[in-house]
Amino acid sequence: MIIVMAPQSTEEHIEAVVERLEQLGYEHHISRGVQHTIIGAIGAPEGEKEMLAEQLSVLPGVDNVVPILKPYKMISREHNPRPATVFIGDAAIGGGHLGVIAGPCSVESREQMIQTGTAVKAAGACALRGGAYKPRTSPYSFQGLGPEGLEYLAAARETTGLPLVTEVMDVRQVERVAEVADCMQIGARNMQNYDLLKEAGASGKPVMLKRGFAATVGEWLTATEYIASSGCLDIILCERGIRTFETTTRFTMDIGGMVAARRETYLPIVADPSHATGLSSLVPAVALAAVAAGADGLLIEVHPRPDQALSDGPQSLTPAAFADLMKRIRRVAEAVGVEV
Ligand code: PEP
Ligand code: MN
Repeated sequence: MIIVMAPQSTEEHIEAVVERLEQLGYEHHISRGVQHTIIGAIGAPEGEKEMLAEQLSVLPGVDNVVPILKPYKMISREHNPRPATVFIGDAAIGGGHLGVIAGPCSVESREQMIQTGTAVKAAGACALRGGAYKPRTSPYSFQGLGPEGLEYLAAARETTGLPLVTEVMDVRQVERVAEVADCMQIGARNMQNYDLLKEAGASGKPVMLKRGFAATVGEWLTATEYIASSGCLDIILCERGIRTFETTTRFTMDIGGMVAARRETYLPIVADPSHATGLSSLVPAVALAAVAAGADGLLIEVHPRPDQALSDGPQSLTPAAFADLMKRIRRVAEAVGVEV
């Protein structure tokens, strides 16, 4: 529930509310606005909410007590209205900072990661991506280099200074991946793997949760709540396209859904035009559209030789095409008032 303090309420009034919530064992989050201070409280059992709301509403300085009815609470704007900035290493994403995460689909070699990392950094990317563990539709497709891939990622960070985003596919990998990743990606196919969401949420590392390609915005946000309720609020959401009747593009970028999700949560949302379109020639226009629509960042696949990529070559930009796109992204970002 949300406790809205009256404009004339004092620090003592706020402390008294917090003390009462702590006594009852509820988690809380304070947002100090210009007019109102708002305290979000999580954890009241359904049956006790009404009574608690009544008790809190009579404390001095309390203006109003509003229940949160949605299944996602800790991540909702009702709980915390201010857009959050999430850091991947030293890279800021959200709250007015547009972060571009770039790199190959799969980690293939040390040289490939260093070469790509150096190129995307020079072009203005804030983080390097690459999968060591790959969720592939076919068991006969390249499955990723596993621990060796994590080693190459770490080497690329060492050389370029870029923080790393890499996917974790299974609870058994969380500890090992968390040692290397600056942000752990949970992929579309695992969006509702609740054990993985909980384990990643408890790992101490930021988590990027991709939208499942058959998940509604509500299901995506509710899955995100699993990570938050496991102790992690450094969460980035990623809209990566959903499955529709349309087959011209690999998936269908749901820009409207991204904007709707952004209205519901204060957490940053990045867009992934690479997986959404599946075609490198469509990536730039969809990337620019996402930034214009308010995305807090982008996830873009870049490969030094897309024709030789072991996965997702057709949707990967060359370093030169990525550098050109970054220039255009800067112009759109300026127009919508965010910094790259
Ligand atoms: C990826 O980022 O390479 C990936 C596998 O993405 P998704 O989970 O969105 O398919
Ligand atoms: Mn990919």
